[in-house]
Amino acid sequence: MGADERMRVGLGYDLHRLEAGRPLMLGTARIPHDRGLAGHSDGDVLCHAIADALLGASGLGEIGRLFPDTAPEWAGVSGAAILSRVSSLLADSGAVIENIDAVVIAERPRLAPHRDAMVSGIARALGIDEGGVSVKIKSNEGVDAIGGGEAIAAQAVSLVRLRSADRRAP
Ligand code: MG
Repeated sequence: MGADERMRVGLGYDLHRLEAGRPLMLGTARIPHDRGLAGHSDGDVLCHAIADALLGASGLGEIGRLFPDTAPEWAGVSGAAILSRVSSLLADSGAVIENIDAVVIAERPRLAPHRDAMVSGIARALGIDEGGVSVKIKSNEGVDAIGGGEAIAAQAVSLVRLRSADRRAP
């Protein structure tokens, strides 16, 4: 790391309800299931949590401000499109993504077989190496709304490298 650079960490969290009649999109991947995540967007909680982690680390705000759920132009917006937009914003501000580590919390369906597709889809949307993306999968042991299969949540942290001259509010 250069003397004129500094590292910043960011945190993201999201939860969406599962609803019949929608495709299940997670980490840009379409996952076979009888329900999908509800929302103004495609409901991709994993991409949303990662977007917020990156925006937070870079001092660029949050996903709700960039993609308001009242804006018709963002109806149905995909997780991949959100990550691509966030990646462009970071690049414009001189921020470089070091890595992302994320956890998806879902009782059903079984997500492990789709982990590689999620990692590669996220990396592709952000324009970074797959080695910089980690996705972990947890169940909620049958506890609460996630454990009962009513919702899926995701958490993410990211590390970005910023030029020290960029003094943004934390
Ligand atoms: Mg969301």
